[in-house]
Amino acid sequence: MEKTFAELGLKAEILERLNEIGYEKPTPVQGQAIPYILDSDKDLIALAHTGTGKTAAFGLPILNKVDVNVKTPQALILSPTRELCLQIAKDLESYSAKMRGLRVTSVYGGANISTQIRELRNGTHIVVATPGRILDLLNRGKVDFTQIKILVLDEADEMLNMGFKDDLDSILASIPEGKRTCLFSATMPEEIRRIGKNYMVDPETIRASNINKPTGNIKHQYYLVRASDRYAALKRTIDSNPGLYGIVFCRTKRGTQEVADWLVKDKYRAEALHGDLSQAQRDYVMHKFRQGALSLLVATDVAARGIDVNSLTHVFHFDLPDEGETYRHRSGRTGRAGKEGISISLITPSEHRKLKKIERSLGARMERMEVPTGEEVCQNQLLALVDRVQNAEVDTNLIQEFWPILKERLETMDFEDVIQRFFSLEFQSYLREYKDAPDIRTAKSYGEGRESSYGDSRSRITQSRDQQTLEINIGRRDKITVPKLLEIINKTVGRGHIPIGAIDLLRNQSRFQVPNKYADLILRSFKGAEHHGRSISVTIAENNGRSTQQRRYRDNRRKTERYRK
Ligand code: AMP
Repeated sequence: MEKTFAELGLKAEILERLNEIGYEKPTPVQGQAIPYILDSDKDLIALAHTGTGKTAAFGLPILNKVDVNVKTPQALILSPTRELCLQIAKDLESYSAKMRGLRVTSVYGGANISTQIRELRNGTHIVVATPGRILDLLNRGKVDFTQIKILVLDEADEMLNMGFKDDLDSILASIPEGKRTCLFSATMPEEIRRIGKNYMVDPETIRASNINKPTGNIKHQYYLVRASDRYAALKRTIDSNPGLYGIVFCRTKRGTQEVADWLVKDKYRAEALHGDLSQAQRDYVMHKFRQGALSLLVATDVAARGIDVNSLTHVFHFDLPDEGETYRHRSGRTGRAGKEGISISLITPSEHRKLKKIERSLGARMERMEVPTGEEVCQNQLLALVDRVQNAEVDTNLIQEFWPILKERLETMDFEDVIQRFFSLEFQSYLREYKDAPDIRTAKSYGEGRESSYGDSRSRITQSRDQQTLEINIGRRDKITVPKLLEIINKTVGRGHIPIGAIDLLRNQSRFQVPNKYADLILRSFKGAEHHGRSISVTIAENNGRSTQQRRYRDNRRKTERYRK
């Protein structure tokens, strides 16, 4: 029989608050960790990932034990990122809203250290910190650890992944005897075992019972597409799901920025979140995302740590991660607080094995889906518009005022005509884009396999709105191979890695696709270029490399546009 929060032994002020915020019963990790931390003095290793309720699992017993009259830190919680620190501090402040005088202070890099020193000097009970900053404060003698009773290492595996190993060693070694250590980690790599062995005394290990299972309310799906179609597939899914609120995960900072730029160019409310942004920029982006001013965040795994937004509908894996654990972390950003979420991976044929590995680690199959067709996008948008009309609140005063004019103007038109025109106006951008749009065929139906990393498809060129097809006057006859061609392009342009899409090596020439924004740069860079003493030139490919079907699509779109003018 599962225990209630009251039966776990928490104080009345905390129970009242939990009731207010709607925590009805403890999650599995809370059910185990709370009584353990409250009732024993021993160390603890808890295997629990984000979304299991781990913050409250350590936060509630800490709050329960704090002596508010002692104004020196009694608990230190270490976490890998500033975002996570702020989130933990916010949660603790919320849980302790009814505990008078309780103070939580968060300290992290990238913010003014003097302000943090002042806050510490003013007295605090719980410090939430990133390892680097707390070590700095410790070395300057600005933080008093003599009263620390409990040290929590939150997302310990992630702190190690982020290179905090030496910092953790120093911190663990400098906290006085008499404290206990509780380590929370999603995974149990060798390094965590080492910390357990070296710095913890006979720790008890607990596991959140659902650690090897996907959260029940997340649907795991994937599309099998060519690398060069990944963006188009993402875009269609977004367009097919009006009201979508989600995170798109990419592997690199550069990939993250690129996808965000494409989305912004296509008029989505999207922004990038990665480590190249300043702290102020990241805060601003996160603020907008939380407020709902952005519907899409494109993020690296590291930058997205600690993001706790409850109503996300979708998580996209634009690049599939290597580890099942990372996949689980990402997916756990959706399907929170009892809501349903969808986690969609955009997979190329060469990533199939990685997909299987992730499925094994997840203990569940991911469902293969087809990219929505143009017709499905249009239908979903239309139905969403019908819903909006049906649910719209009518401001009768305003309408009454203008009704005579409206009526006079519209009187001569019949009802059906008005409705059709109204919907066409609202709907025209989708109609233009998707009417007659060819399906994004899944990679398997191309009957080809060899694709490599991001944007590096080795398959035949097909239509893409976001890519330009260029032609270079060297081909197989010149012993050009795909790696050779990539090398020539990257060297000639001299701006590092250019994300080349599909490539066709022909006998006398080759064609390749690049995101539109790179086309001009490449055309300019190749002016007067030479390869082994031979002049090489790049031009825009005839028909932009389009097949007959795609040309028909483009012509149809033009026709539709002319018709609407
Ligand atoms: P965490 O694993 O700490 O990131 O928590 C994941 C989410 O679950 C957060 O939004 C918490 O507010 C929420 N949560 C934690 N414990 C409970 C509980 N016992 N009942 C309902 N929601 C909870």
